[in-house]
Amino acid sequence: MIIRNVRVLGGEPVDIRVADGTITEIGTGLQGAEEIVDGRGAIALPGLVDLHTHLREPGREDAETVLTGTQSAARGGYTAVHAMANTSPVADTAGVVEQVYRLGQEGGYCDVQPVGAVTVGLEGRQLAELGAMADSAARVRVFSDDGHCVDDAVLMRRALEYVKAFDGVVAQHAQEPRLTSGAQMNEGVISGRLGLAGWPAVAEEAIIARDCLLAAHVGSRLHICHVSTAGSVEILRWAKSKGWNVTAEVTPHHLLLTDALVEESPNGSYNPIYKVNPPLRTRADVEALRAALADGTIDVVATDHAPHPVEDKETEWAAAAMGMIGLETALSVVQESMVDTGLLDWAGVAERMSLKPAEIGRLSGHGNPLEVGAPANITLYDPGARTEVDPRAFASKSRNTPYEGMTLPGRIVATFLRGKPTVLEGKLV
Ligand SMILES: [Zn+2]
Repeated sequence: MIIRNVRVLGGEPVDIRVADGTITEIGTGLQGAEEIVDGRGAIALPGLVDLHTHLREPGREDAETVLTGTQSAARGGYTAVHAMANTSPVADTAGVVEQVYRLGQEGGYCDVQPVGAVTVGLEGRQLAELGAMADSAARVRVFSDDGHCVDDAVLMRRALEYVKAFDGVVAQHAQEPRLTSGAQMNEGVISGRLGLAGWPAVAEEAIIARDCLLAAHVGSRLHICHVSTAGSVEILRWAKSKGWNVTAEVTPHHLLLTDALVEESPNGSYNPIYKVNPPLRTRADVEALRAALADGTIDVVATDHAPHPVEDKETEWAAAAMGMIGLETALSVVQESMVDTGLLDWAGVAERMSLKPAEIGRLSGHGNPLEVGAPANITLYDPGARTEVDPRAFASKSRNTPYEGMTLPGRIVATFLRGKPTVLEGKLV
């Protein structure tokens, strides 16, 4: 197969020859192929890799399944996703992670790398079978109680020590539970005006500071999920300046949206579509997160794709579930917040949405630069398109997007997983 007329990382137009799932030639005027895909000048990126996806299966197949979630991922340009462990049953044993891994392989739309729970049942009392999950067919390397914080410092220390044996990483959902008991939105001027219980920045920052110190103390790898505050950025900058092995992610929604939307938005006020954990923060936080992603203090963009059925979101604010879907809009939101603002070029986007997430997850076969010999995991993207977001067009089973009706830049043209198209002309194959 030849993929004709694409611009690798936004460079000059070239053709890419693919054979047996591998890139075998990159050049101009390539000839002699059974199948030609016309790239029409689209930007070619290495297949995107998400470190933080909720696929909901097993247990909440009414919100998403591994199949619909990976179809959603493919439509967003992803070739691999890390599936979070807060399923039912929880992915805290070799059996459950292998089940999720196999479901991903059967679907064939996107590789699924299960994340293992840190503690049994995400209950924060006893370490899960980390070694058994690492040794399983799913080869788990990322461990997280995401949705819950591992707030017990002794357990967190033990987990950090344990994963060193297999080069694993603990991904922390940084939320001091007592400081956020009953929290509904970012603590600040707007939560005060609206009378909603606040989720203070310090509840995130205190856990990040503690865990950076713990990771340094035991010499282990730590990853911080969905960083959302300017103060967290300062702590990460300090930890990295010490040479500690700490990485961090930011979500697309925290790069674009603010807590002002809870008070006033095109969708009214108190609309639970904006309810998410960690909460949307202030404009100053958004600016700090963008700068940190640009300068490398925050390493990667991760979606925290969190599907919920309509009945769990379209209810009063206090009762609504927290979370937003994000796989099919991630690259557009990153273009809007980082590329069109001049903060990142396409090489920078590839680094933060493919190369580094694969490296942090120790995921082989993904996150390789588009070069001869690399697996043909390729995303074609047209940054000149403008699309009004219509959730009914999503492959995800859920519709809880905060971008409905917004016009966002860019469009995924095609996605190739080891040379096999999963998306062509923007549609699932
Ligand atoms: Zn989380």
